Amino acid sequence: MKTIGIIGGGQLGRMLAMAAARLNFRTVILEPQADCPAAQVANDQIVAAYDDEAALAQLAGACDIITYEFENVPVAAATLLARSKPVYPPPKALEVAQDRVTEKRFLNESGIETAKFHVIDSQADLDAGLADFGGKGVLKTRRLGYDGKGQRVFNGDSPAGAFAALGGVPMILESFVPFVREISVIAARGQDGAIACFDPAENVHRNGILHTSTVPAAISGETGTAAKAAAKAILEALDYVGVIGVEFFVTADGGLIANEIAPRVHNSGHWTEAACVVSQFEQHIRAVAGLSLSDGARHSDCVMQNLIGDDIDDVPEWLAKPSTLVHLYGKNEARPGRKMGHVTWLTRA
Ligand code: AMP
Repeated sequence: MKTIGIIGGGQLGRMLAMAAARLNFRTVILEPQADCPAAQVANDQIVAAYDDEAALAQLAGACDIITYEFENVPVAAATLLARSKPVYPPPKALEVAQDRVTEKRFLNESGIETAKFHVIDSQADLDAGLADFGGKGVLKTRRLGYDGKGQRVFNGDSPAGAFAALGGVPMILESFVPFVREISVIAARGQDGAIACFDPAENVHRNGILHTSTVPAAISGETGTAAKAAAKAILEALDYVGVIGVEFFVTADGGLIANEIAPRVHNSGHWTEAACVVSQFEQHIRAVAGLSLSDGARHSDCVMQNLIGDDIDDVPEWLAKPSTLVHLYGKNEARPGRKMGHVTWLTRA
């Protein structure tokens, strides 16, 4: 039996480990927090920091293939592992996704439109950038932002002190995109170069965190085809293996503006476990293990909703609803903003 190493022990690692088990793979999790969500369902856990070289050597020794469940895996760690064992997705995907400026340049070079942007290294850069965008824009830290953290929206308000307030770290100022909806495409590329896309999901965020994903998205056939084509171009440009999530803004005329890429399974793809024959998690395991990909076919329409913090108290009501799948992450403490689980209900089967 082959063993897959997973860097990161959160809910995404947990769902990957469960999918891996169904295909007869063992899993080992590298994660500093003991008894993490992924380790609860995996064969083993190495309790250590992601950049602990001895732990990385132990992981490489214990596994045949290595993957990861979050995009802030240190590139040096992934590169080190790749010297002794296959690491998928390729470490280059981490490099691109970890820095919003590198990411936008990569997307633009791949022929994919993004928001206009300025690189911000000082308050003066911010003042000049905002002036260029007519006082409107979204300021984000280049690195380590997630779920809307490390961001500030400007709508004509004064930028005074904003650079220091966000930590004085390297930032990006994006033009404000007047979108009518947000969608994402979950796509996969196998070791043989085959590509399969799931249907685009329409995503609604609350307080910067994904609230619901609805499939099908209320977009035209052309917009859906264009979103899948963009995902395909990204996968090919990165010589990618595994599942990727690509988020887009949709404008009033049906145009697409890419927001960000996630080189991993993605929260907006959780619906696939209820509405597709093969979920994004199994698709990722198939890709990294060199197996045939599923075609990504969907048999039902559905809505996925995250259970955040105290939403976990509503589980008995969700369980009582028809055609509803409840998936919980094994987290003991329900802190505000913490993803505790998700539910997916079928709206048309
Ligand atoms: P992000 O962390 O880049 O995914 O941004 C979080 C959310 O902020 C997005 O899902 C959008 O709702 C909003 N947002 C981010 N960037 C922009 C932008 N350039 N224009 C308008 N809204 C944005």
